[in-house]
Amino acid sequence: LLRLDGVTVRFGSADRPALDSVDLDVAAHEIVCVLGPSGSGKSTLLRVVAGLQQADAGRVLLEGRDQTGVPTHRRGVGLMFQDHQLFPQRDVAGNVAFGLRIRRTARTDRDRTVAELLDLVGLPGAQRRAVASLSGGEQQRVALARALAPRPRLLMLDEPLGQLDRGLRERLVVELRRLFQELGTTVLAVTHDQGEAFALADRVVVMQEGRIAQTGTPLEVWQRPASEFVARFLGFDN
Ligand code: ATP
Ligand code: MG
Repeated sequence: LLRLDGVTVRFGSADRPALDSVDLDVAAHEIVCVLGPSGSGKSTLLRVVAGLQQADAGRVLLEGRDQTGVPTHRRGVGLMFQDHQLFPQRDVAGNVAFGLRIRRTARTDRDRTVAELLDLVGLPGAQRRAVASLSGGEQQRVALARALAPRPRLLMLDEPLGQLDRGLRERLVVELRRLFQELGTTVLAVTHDQGEAFALADRVVVMQEGRIAQTGTPLEVWQRPASEFVARFLGFDN
């Protein structure tokens, strides 16, 4: 579904590129988690796929089509950032429907879709609640429902559970995996947290200084780290 072909991104006079000739394939329905230390290029990778960042070299392909010059809203991808930026002046339904409204969905369809999405993320009947009255975890669920609303062919999450406490994260990550599998959503998610990545992903990608240090199933990477860097990153100290 997604292919990166030698994608390089350079910022100004930085001594090394933020992304250095990255090749990556993500199959339809696959859940891929990108792991790596701060500054290794994880967010840049998502931004380049979304079209929020231009590649200096290489290509991004979605379903085989080169996305060079295709604006973000035409790429059919959904994005959810860590600071999920809900609209505080709209209620829950208004937030979730946002992605539908700009697509001019008929009102009855819209209401039904919003109700279905809220059921899916475990917030049934929350349509009229004020965003500010929701807990952090509930807001995160609303943001997820909003990202899913336009039915993106690829859903990208940048530290989606970053602001939540550990217990809630562990519960949500299991729910998310089940939800994505049920919907057949293709997911490219970034996280710092290996536990989260290993629980969510079919496959993990470990980044190191703008390059892919290793990719494999969580078990493969855990059992056979490809380099000392990966082993150290996973917390094996010797
Ligand atoms: P974190 O885990 O801290 O979010 P990350 O892996 O997401 O890190 P990126 O945000 O992709 O890292 O950044 C990769 C590199 O590119 C870093 O060295 C960063 O300083 C640099 N960088 C990212 N965005 C910009 C920008 N807009 N202008 C200049 N440099 C940037
Ligand atoms: Mg980042």
